[in-house]
Amino acid sequence: MAERKNVGIVYLVGAGPGDPGLLTVRGQKLLEQADIVVYDYLANPELLNHCRADVERIYVGKKAAEHSMTQDGINALLVSHGRAGKRVVRLKGGDPFVFGRGGEECEAIAAAGVPFEVVPGITAAIAAPAYAGIPVTHRDLNSSFTFITGHEKEDEYRAADSRGREPAVGSSDVDWSSIAKLPCLAFYMGVKSLPHICANLIEHGMDPAMPAATVRWGTRPNQRTVVGTVSDLAQRVSDAKLAPPALTIIGKVVTLRDTLNWFERRPLFGQTIVVTRTRQQASELSEKLRELGADVIEAPTIELHPPADVSVVTDALHDAREGCYDWVVFTSSNAVKHVKRMLFEEGLDVRTFAGLGIAAIGDATARALEDELGIRPDLVPPQAIAEALADALVAKNAIDDKRFLLLRADIGRSVLVDRLKSGGAARVDDVAIYQTRTAASLPPHVLEAVAEKRVTWVTFTSSSTAKNFAELLGENYREQLTGVNIASIGPVTTTTLRELGLEPTVQAESSNVDGLIDAIVGAVAPSRPWPA
Ligand code: SAH
Repeated sequence: MAERKNVGIVYLVGAGPGDPGLLTVRGQKLLEQADIVVYDYLANPELLNHCRADVERIYVGKKAAEHSMTQDGINALLVSHGRAGKRVVRLKGGDPFVFGRGGEECEAIAAAGVPFEVVPGITAAIAAPAYAGIPVTHRDLNSSFTFITGHEKEDEYRAADSRGREPAVGSSDVDWSSIAKLPCLAFYMGVKSLPHICANLIEHGMDPAMPAATVRWGTRPNQRTVVGTVSDLAQRVSDAKLAPPALTIIGKVVTLRDTLNWFERRPLFGQTIVVTRTRQQASELSEKLRELGADVIEAPTIELHPPADVSVVTDALHDAREGCYDWVVFTSSNAVKHVKRMLFEEGLDVRTFAGLGIAAIGDATARALEDELGIRPDLVPPQAIAEALADALVAKNAIDDKRFLLLRADIGRSVLVDRLKSGGAARVDDVAIYQTRTAASLPPHVLEAVAEKRVTWVTFTSSSTAKNFAELLGENYREQLTGVNIASIGPVTTTTLRELGLEPTVQAESSNVDGLIDAIVGAVAPSRPWPA
């Protein structure tokens, strides 16, 4: 049999404009399968979360600190990995063929005989205006829409081999007298040259009152939009200190923004919120805050590890199976997940808890029991604190002479154990299902955002995250947090914050994620309605 040569393939994948939800389904699938991802400045690095953990990630963006890669270097890189039999994803901001040099990369790959495919992406000229409330066409206003680069003569386009285009001044194929007559124009890479662009358009006959807008980091939570006319936009953009990357759209459609500006009107748009949490925790809070428009920065302060002595847990699970308890109490959704894993590792399943009373502290814990184990808890106290559970058990007359198994973290408070014992419980086994350790340090981008005073809120969902966050910020944590709003999930966390000398701006009325979000929205945008 003829030996088959093991060649790879290069996929040019459009990353979309920045909102990670604007990647195509095919793009996501290819990222999931990739061996290597080569990405640049405009591709949101969050998209790399779709990749396998062991994927090789190569950043070739402009902002690479030491040596940004030349286009030839990038081409050679793609070719060599393709030849080496790898599945390479070349992830490019927006669409790979719209002002992204994707055509050149493709030509190099084709010339080397390496197979390739192209996955289009949502380009900035469509997406940034859409997120600024500007439809790029409208039956009443325009029947054409034109993409133009405002950056023809800058270094990137001065490549010696640029065919049919002389590299020097005067090489433009932009015919100003023609485009000044067109009803809707989008300029990429046009921040620096905006004065020149606008002046040229007016000089060639465009109405100086033509509406125009520049959108920076469109579709991202830090999107900024400046609106004006073709005669004053350049000055307004300069006054607003708007830097690249930004896209300018010129045409009557810009006026529709007055009624269609949906993205920047979301209740938490403009807020930068640090979410302190455990590294492994599902980021339900982050997701919901993002949905409301916030720029969320996750700060993992706690790491979860298996318990020092696993046999204590497994013994307790076997005891539960033999019916040695009347009640099993879960205190966190993490505990539920760990229990599930340990049951399976022990060759057990959810029938271990058959016939026992199940209690959960907190709605999230109750939901995790349903989702992970298919258990509907018998008791979920109205407030997500140990005292409320003890009260609820007292009310049910369910403590005296009963046997309890508490499955929780090693840092739980002793309140519940004390209350159960003093209530006459026959047995209370307080079993740490996982250990918590303070993270070694905060990620650099978190420290940077705090230092640059970009953070408007920090959320705390437990006493331990509060203590750890303060510790990780360092001795002058109070100084670093001056002017930053603090959101506490409930009274216990608030007490800890006050002990740390930090006064919460808001405290959730109900101690859960939704309560915390309601409190923040109530403080930021009291009059704005938002969808449930
Ligand atoms: N291939 C990309 C464009 C690359 S050229 C695409 O299809 O979108 C780089 C220029 O794109 C930037 O200078 C800016 O003008 C524009 N751009 C890309 N992403 C943007 C964003 N999120 N917001 C505003 N402009 C963006």
